[in-house]
Amino acid sequence: MSRLYIVATPIGNMEDMTLRALRILREVDVIACEDTRHTSMLLNHYEIKKRLIATHSYNERESSRGILSLLDEGKDIAYCSDAGTPGISDPGELLVDYIRENSDHEIIPVPGPSAAITLISVAGRVGRSFTFEGFLSPKSGRRKKRLTELIARNEPFLIYESPFRVIKTLKEAFEIERDLYAVMGRELTKQFEEIKKMPLAELIRYLEGKSTVKGEFAILLYKDFHDKTEEDQES
Ligand code: SAM
Repeated sequence: MSRLYIVATPIGNMEDMTLRALRILREVDVIACEDTRHTSMLLNHYEIKKRLIATHSYNERESSRGILSLLDEGKDIAYCSDAGTPGISDPGELLVDYIRENSDHEIIPVPGPSAAITLISVAGRVGRSFTFEGFLSPKSGRRKKRLTELIARNEPFLIYESPFRVIKTLKEAFEIERDLYAVMGRELTKQFEEIKKMPLAELIRYLEGKSTVKGEFAILLYKDFHDKTEEDQES
């Protein structure tokens, strides 16, 4: 039986690589990744020389078959997405299901950074639980419908958003519910990291005041749950 390791990699800061992830990348026979150029930069940084194979999201099913053949040949494989944890708004889910359903090879998680959990770690008090949504639909109608559902749940929810659409999406949320708060993580762990916790209306004004909006965004949206949380804890 061979091993397929699902390895988390940094979301920006190259130092956020676990010792175990480095050891696994050094030990496996092959590294499968979303984009060989991207993963090569990480491997070069840590002076790891290894056979790389690309498994683009558009050919995930086909590449899953290729990975299964390598596992069947007795090779151990590490799978990395471009950044963060595979399977979290990233390819990896199909591969894991395919290998589990078609073989007895071991599937081993090697945890590490994820933008969502990184943001939660500095969000402070926002409520007891949250919904991880990831990317909303690029289609405006679907996006608004989903935002309406998420807001109606009365639970914080976390989205990933592109710099080109972030203001639009936040305005759509504000149109649905004016009494929302936000925790924004922009460029987390990178040189221009920015973390803001404020009413959504204020965050929209802040972003609109910038000449250009750049970077990667993870945003938590929530109603003010503090009183409810305290009541719950007392009872
Ligand atoms: N699998 C990754 C994870 O575990 O976080 C997420 C990959 S998803 C394709 C990429 C999106 O995650 C970006 O568009 C952005 O919304 C968010 N993201 C990734 N890195 C980030 C960072 N350093 N700061 C803020 N958001 C980030």
